[in-house]
Amino acid sequence: MKPLLIKNGIIVTETDTNNMDILCENGIITKIEHNINIPDANIVDATGLFVLPGGVDQHVHFNFSMNNNTYYSWASSKAATVSGTTTVIDFLNQKPNKSIKESLDEYTQLAIKGNTFCDYGLHIILNSMDYNTLDELKNLLDYGIGTCKIFTAFKGETHYCPDEVILKILSLSKEVGFSVMVHAENPDIIKMLQQKSIYENKLSPDNHYKTRPYISEIEAVSKMIYFAEFTGANICFAHISTKESVELIKNAKKRGLNVFGETCPHYLLFTQEQLDKSPEESIKFICSPPLREKYNLQHIWKALQEDVLSFISSDHSDINWKNHKMFGLNNYLQVPNGCPGLAERFPIIWSEGVKKRISNTTTIC
Ligand SMILES: [Zn+2]
Repeated sequence: MKPLLIKNGIIVTETDTNNMDILCENGIITKIEHNINIPDANIVDATGLFVLPGGVDQHVHFNFSMNNNTYYSWASSKAATVSGTTTVIDFLNQKPNKSIKESLDEYTQLAIKGNTFCDYGLHIILNSMDYNTLDELKNLLDYGIGTCKIFTAFKGETHYCPDEVILKILSLSKEVGFSVMVHAENPDIIKMLQQKSIYENKLSPDNHYKTRPYISEIEAVSKMIYFAEFTGANICFAHISTKESVELIKNAKKRGLNVFGETCPHYLLFTQEQLDKSPEESIKFICSPPLREKYNLQHIWKALQEDVLSFISSDHSDINWKNHKMFGLNNYLQVPNGCPGLAERFPIIWSEGVKKRISNTTTIC
């Protein structure tokens, strides 16, 4: 195989941005230097172009269930590669009455094999909280899975984690070395408001955000920080959407806790205004936690600049507006939660972040 030589690009690494050449031999970068000359190499002229490491999107959903159907969409990983993301991390949903390993083998065979266009990893979502499943988490790293995602919200569903289970998982994560990602919303505040909305027959799409107030995220973030402190575990909050959660994470970091946070392009660009539009339009933006009031945006951008939040992930979901979302037009409780965004993530980070708000390009790497 001929060496590949990328000439005159603006090379961005985690420490530097510089005009240099890159030499790749046998698929491996062997040199980053000024003026590399290899006569028989395949030469790519990158004058005036940025040459960045491939992006990692640590939060995508290539499967979701609705009305007893499960939809797989690993072919969508193609959307990652066209916009600079070369690695995605999807969620393996443990199957009912199956072990983590059985679920992994089945999912790999059924959905991933032959359908992936980029590198990938998996987080596990447990759907059983019994002793055997929790014990099996000890093998997680051997299965090639690095993270267990826990849900403080969605009480009554199989992936909801009560506090006792959360504490067990956090303790195990410290012992075994896997990481923990958290969907942080208080289930009871949401449940109480949902029941009220049903009683009052308020079921239009805007009631989704009205029943998931700021305090439900703030309470759960706060609780999880105390749990991380108590167990000594590392945690990463998924999709942080409020100024107040950012402040809690910032303080936890100051106290020396290993608490990290992620946000998503939709919490950086869109606001609650989208959810007050017509039902057909607002339904497109239904995700949990919901979009928030405008004042939050500047605080989330600032948190990224200051490394209080460490990740921008798409939380991509292949939920189709017409075929899936519209099913719940007359009842927000039946709207599948989630939005697409895998292909748009990197361009948005560039145009809205690097160009306007985050001047240091290396921060993005
Ligand atoms: Zn998600």
